[in-house]
Amino acid sequence: MSSPTPTALPDALAGPVVHTGTPVVPGVALGPVVWPTGVVQLPGSDAAAVPEGERLAERARFAAAAATVAERLAERAAAATGVSAEVLATTAGLARDRGLMSAVEQRIDAGASAPVATVAAAQQFVELFTGLGGVMAERATDVRDVRDRIVAQLTGQGEPGVPSPEVPSVLLADDLAPADTAGLDPARIIALATRLGGATSHTAIIARQLGLPCVVGVGGLADVPAGALVLVDGEQGTVTVDPEPVSARARVADARAVAAALARYRGPGATRDGHPVQVLANVQDGVGARAAAGAHAEGVGLLRTELAFFGRTTEPSVAEQAAGYAEVFAAFPDGKVVLRTLDAGSDKPLAFATPPDEANPALGVRGLRVARRDPGLLTRQLDAVQQAARATGSHPWVMAPMVATVAEAADFAAQVRQRGLVPGVMVEVPSVALLADRFLEHLDFLSIGTNDLSQYTLAADRLSAELADLTDPWQPALLALIRATAAAGERAGKPVGVCGEAAADPLLACVLVGMGVTSLSCAASSVAGVGAKLATVDLAACRRAAEAALAAGDPAAARAAARAALSR
Ligand code: PEP
Ligand code: MG
Repeated sequence: MSSPTPTALPDALAGPVVHTGTPVVPGVALGPVVWPTGVVQLPGSDAAAVPEGERLAERARFAAAAATVAERLAERAAAATGVSAEVLATTAGLARDRGLMSAVEQRIDAGASAPVATVAAAQQFVELFTGLGGVMAERATDVRDVRDRIVAQLTGQGEPGVPSPEVPSVLLADDLAPADTAGLDPARIIALATRLGGATSHTAIIARQLGLPCVVGVGGLADVPAGALVLVDGEQGTVTVDPEPVSARARVADARAVAAALARYRGPGATRDGHPVQVLANVQDGVGARAAAGAHAEGVGLLRTELAFFGRTTEPSVAEQAAGYAEVFAAFPDGKVVLRTLDAGSDKPLAFATPPDEANPALGVRGLRVARRDPGLLTRQLDAVQQAARATGSHPWVMAPMVATVAEAADFAAQVRQRGLVPGVMVEVPSVALLADRFLEHLDFLSIGTNDLSQYTLAADRLSAELADLTDPWQPALLALIRATAAAGERAGKPVGVCGEAAADPLLACVLVGMGVTSLSCAASSVAGVGAKLATVDLAACRRAAEAALAAGDPAAARAAARAALSR
């Protein structure tokens, strides 16, 4: 993390400087810049060896520092809720991790000082996690964060983290450690912008939960000094340095009016001229489903069944699975629930389902492919869904993830229909979008997973911060595949939804509706934003926006073209 100190004021004659990135949480905020504090100075590896007689004491010094760091994080976890609490608890757990501890102790026993041993041991784990890739690579950020906290504690440096400014401020950073973002006070930090990070980064997830306007992947941010006034626009994806004050304040006021409209949103989703569009929620369990009902979602567009089983070493029984699904169905007695069968593998490994030895897990045995090795995993899950449906009197839709061929879809559909359930598949692999007509001959619906469809279309890891521009859901190739899929749905008279992160972007939601998408499913916290935006536009304007976006050459041009078409 770099933390520039105030430098020269921006040149007033040159006008405001606008930096562009990926918008991840809508909303607009105006305030002075703060940067993370306490960049920790790490020791070099050439420090003198600790004499043998002092090594036990050095071990104890390390243990005390690690315990203090873990306790501090655990206390903050106890005071936090939701995702923030989970993130803080995970980081606290890492500060107590036996593997990390013994790697440090071994080095101390060999003569390294506690700070040097901490840095070396952490590096070993960073390399390990980075090598594993996917979601495990994100753990490297946690390891570095814990390393910095322990070294700071050992060497008497200030605890690294986000400042707590007196004046409501905008936090800029290279990237934010999970524990930093989880501890944010939204009364003091009113927006976030980071130089790195993508739409699925920790920064984005926590900003979404706190409702803080957020833009990630903003080039040029490092040159913005602390104290500079900036306007963060989480819908347009811009950070404007030294904006013209009158229009900046007007933009903030407009955004507040939009926020007020969100608070009034009650569903069901429809455009201003009454074209119905189901606005649904992505959930992982009964708790999430009840929260989604409270947020006025019309149903569940994506039940990520694998998430409830994270950390399990054995497959949950049919009865246990059925009980979990029944809770979700019961949250929407009259609403739609789309359940996705286990999407184990790649960024969501499950010990009982994921092969441990794949060189390239994103292209490996994940999603529906897991049933090639163990067909019973799928049949038992479908049995559980059938039981839950019977118990609650629901009619769930069931879809498979990571489907690539028509034959896979046809086989899956037959198994689903046998149990009296409604079959569909996710559109995550470009082959499905390209042959959507043929897939729909076997299925009752399609649901586009833009997170994976973008990674497989642009050949860019969805978790790579460095490639976030490629996995931007406004990429022309992705938009073209969505349009092709929606058009196939229109021809077949069958619904095509979007359940990836793209559906959470209110502007893109209008474009998707204009392309013929019939439902949008997003995080419960984004439901009102999407629903309220749709209520302000006519279907004809959405169609114009879709055409304009499809004709654009890159994501920024597509956003600008869609915005212009909607405001005409
Ligand atoms: C997607 O790929 O867009 C999707 C919704 O699935 P997940 O994010 O769970 O992989
Ligand atoms: Mg996916």
